[in-house]
Formats: sequence, structure tokens, C-alpha cells
Amino acid sequence: MANDCIFCRIKSGEIKSDIVYTDEQCFIIKDIAPKAPVHLLVIPNKHFTYLTGLTVEENEMIGGMFRAAAETARKQGIDKTGYRLVINQGANSGQQVPHLHLHILAGRQMGMMA
Ligand code: AMP
Ligand code: ZN
Repeated sequence: MANDCIFCRIKSGEIKSDIVYTDEQCFIIKDIAPKAPVHLLVIPNKHFTYLTGLTVEENEMIGGMFRAAAETARKQGIDKTGYRLVINQGANSGQQVPHLHLHILAGRQMGMMA
């Protein structure tokens, strides 16, 4: 838990959010400024910043995030039409929140990179 982190504060309930999934590794919320008709964020429960810090310790967390994304995509009915998973890392990617998260984007045709 990082006190100045938006996603940790959502996890603790201090900031309200639309939570659609929770388990022991991660939780999933609706993005507050959606870039597609379906825009969800898969957020690890543990405050973890950048993939450069990744070790085998995070294997379960990373695996859990992808499993949760696939299960939620199925439940939201976007698995057949398709969806995109995005992780922004660092300034050039446009990353705003330094707590690792996986974007799930769906509900429209996407171009090569956006
Ligand atoms: P990134 O640019 O990869 O760091 O993505 C951060 C995402 O978090 C953006 O798509 C924001 O719209 C989203 N976001 C920021 N604050 C909130 C919030 N309070 N609730 C839900 N999503 C948020
Ligand atoms: Zn955090």
C-alpha cells in the first residue's frame, strides 16, 4: 500500500470506483476516462511499480492478472469479438499511474497501435 497511490487508495476503499472483479492477486475496475466502449483496468493488490523490478516473486501475481483479464472478458461478453490488453511503462508510453496495471480495451475496431 502506497498512501499517495490512486490505485492503492481505490483498493483500500478510500477512493470510490466501479469494481467488477476481485481475487487474492488483483482487482478489476472500470476506467474513469474510457478510451473504448469497454475499458477496464486489471490492478494487482500489491503496490508494484514497474516491470523492470520483476522477479520470480511476481509470477503468481502476473499470471493471476492475465487469468482475471481472460475470465472477465468472457463474463463481459467481449471474448468472441476480441479485446486488446495494454501495459504502459514509463514516460514515452504515456503511463500516468505508477502502480502496474493491465488495460482491457474492447467494443470497437482498433488500429495497429491505438
Ligand atoms: P496509464 O496511463 O497506463 O497509467 O493508465 C492510467 C489509467 O487510469 C487511465 O486510463 C485513467 O483514465 C485511469 N484512472 C485514473 N484515475 C482513475 C480512477 N480514480 N478510477 C478509474 N480509473 C482511473
Ligand atoms: Zn499502489
